[in-house]
Amino acid sequence: MAKSSMKPTCSGAECDNEAGTLQCPTCLKLGLEVSYFCSQECFKNNWADHKLLHKKNTGIYNPFPSYPFTGSLRPVYPLTPRRKVPDHIAKPDWYRDGIPKYPPNMRRLNKHEVLDQAGQQAMRTVCRLTREVLDIAAAAIRPGITTDYLDEIVHNACIERNAYPSPLNYNHFPKSLCTSPNEVICHGIPDQRVLLDGDILNLDVSLYFNGYHGDVNETYHVLSPTSRGPSPSASLVVDTARECLSLAIAQVKPGTPLGEFGAIIEKHAKSKGCSVVKSYCGHGIHKLFHCPPDILHYERNKSVGVCKPGMTFTIEPMITLGLNGGRDRTWPDGWTAVSVDGALTAQFEHTLLVTEDGVEVLTAQPPDSPGGPLVLEDGASDF
Ligand SMILES: [Zn+2]
Ligand SMILES: [Zn+2]
Repeated sequence: MAKSSMKPTCSGAECDNEAGTLQCPTCLKLGLEVSYFCSQECFKNNWADHKLLHKKNTGIYNPFPSYPFTGSLRPVYPLTPRRKVPDHIAKPDWYRDGIPKYPPNMRRLNKHEVLDQAGQQAMRTVCRLTREVLDIAAAAIRPGITTDYLDEIVHNACIERNAYPSPLNYNHFPKSLCTSPNEVICHGIPDQRVLLDGDILNLDVSLYFNGYHGDVNETYHVLSPTSRGPSPSASLVVDTARECLSLAIAQVKPGTPLGEFGAIIEKHAKSKGCSVVKSYCGHGIHKLFHCPPDILHYERNKSVGVCKPGMTFTIEPMITLGLNGGRDRTWPDGWTAVSVDGALTAQFEHTLLVTEDGVEVLTAQPPDSPGGPLVLEDGASDF
């Protein structure tokens, strides 16, 4: 057959021009048959109609197209169906109706539970498993995968350990893991968004095992093997959040006022030109996933009480880049908290046990952990 001399025409509606070399980048990214346009102008004029093709061909869409997003990140739906938990795994009370039940007067009494030896041992076990699951998911982070894929990894790793992923259906949260990229402060919902080289990503993993909860999170740099490495701003916010947590943990010992951690954290964040998020806090954790005491991460806070041996709680500072007051907004999904100005944000969390003379970091990382150790500014590892 003779080679056709006919050149393809522009994909623009009612445009008979020859197609140029301009390809739609979204088609390329989504792996669709690529549309060619004769000019940037024609591409722009046809964008409203053309972008519907992306949705039609992939089924993915932004569920809140008219929401004034604070940064460039968008939700990428549909979410995958709710993952199943086998019958033999013990489930927390929110598994069926999505509502965690609390003992009466829990808040009013402001009682800070002190765990006996058996309770402390149960916390050691669940926190070790929680750390294992976080490290498995973190090792899978790379450009090109979706956050939903990480949720699947976490869900399966929990089930393999006969543990329940605590976030699943907690106040109706739809997934087993929180994934918070770039400007997302916390509670991001794993979806179909593909991770990009240079993103930062927080994974927050919580497990329920033998009646107790463990809770840990870390922020990672998403990098390809050929990447030039994290940007200076991504490094700054991630390192600052990591240091804030280390500095606060170094002061956990009997007698330390619970309000002191916020002062340590905010002072360090400010010294790095960063802000502390005020809407979310650390919490007591044991048989209850979230309970008193509240651990506030900012100065001059109203955290009441002091550290006592046997208490278990988290410290989990959320730090945003720049002096934006750490203010946040929540997407219409009711969960995803983002920085008010779209600035990068990072978080680190450990579950801690106050001991007779200091602290045991129940979710401590082994030396080969993907995120690396928590290191203080002077380079000394603090635990
Ligand atoms: Zn957490
Ligand atoms: Zn937590």
